[in-house]
Amino acid sequence: MNKEIKLKFHNRGLRSYIEVDLCAECPRQDAKGCCGYYSPVFYASDFAYLLEKKPELIEHILQADRITVLDTSVTLNKSIDGDSYRCHFHSQEGGCSLAQEERESICRHFVCPGIDWEREPGLFHWKRFFTMLFDYEIELNNEIARVLSEEGLSLRNENDRAAFFSRLQDIFRDKTSKLPDFFKECPEKEEATLLREISFGQDWKL
Ligand code: SF4
Ligand code: SF4
Repeated sequence: MNKEIKLKFHNRGLRSYIEVDLCAECPRQDAKGCCGYYSPVFYASDFAYLLEKKPELIEHILQADRITVLDTSVTLNKSIDGDSYRCHFHSQEGGCSLAQEERESICRHFVCPGIDWEREPGLFHWKRFFTMLFDYEIELNNEIARVLSEEGLSLRNENDRAAFFSRLQDIFRDKTSKLPDFFKECPEKEEATLLREISFGQDWKL
């Protein structure tokens, strides 16, 4: 069965994301789709955004069950749910409870291989954009982690978290005062419609 799939690409700098209308009726038909297999990991650039826009979400993340706290990242580990898993932020009724810009980078960029939008020549500029954004985020997060480590600050030390986040925000502002040019290479928003053969259940690859 062929189906039209609508994608919306949003250039929001470090909070850029891709929306896919098919997710609302995911061919996996398990009301979880790819979110049933993923454990989101929040890094320094995510915390910098949340400190500015939704600090209470950082508190929520740090108080959640099944977290793995490293020096500058927190993973919310998925829980077993039936024959697969469930992400901490996912509910059967409402899907992901986070707004797109609050999500970490995989959750903002991932589109399943059945859709494979990257093979569309008309979308190569977005492929380049998200590839460069992914690399830039890694480099930025590593650089912030390096400075925090030199200053002896770590998320693992619960007593130091206020100082950790305060310095993280300063370092983030300093490192992102001039953003790379590729951010200007894509429009703020673009929509695309693709035609794809749909398979269902576990035949729809993640
Ligand atoms: S598997 Fe594909 S269609 Fe389903 S929720 Fe994930 S990205 Fe959306
Ligand atoms: S945070 Fe949201 S988008 Fe990411 S895996 Fe969990 S439910 Fe899915």
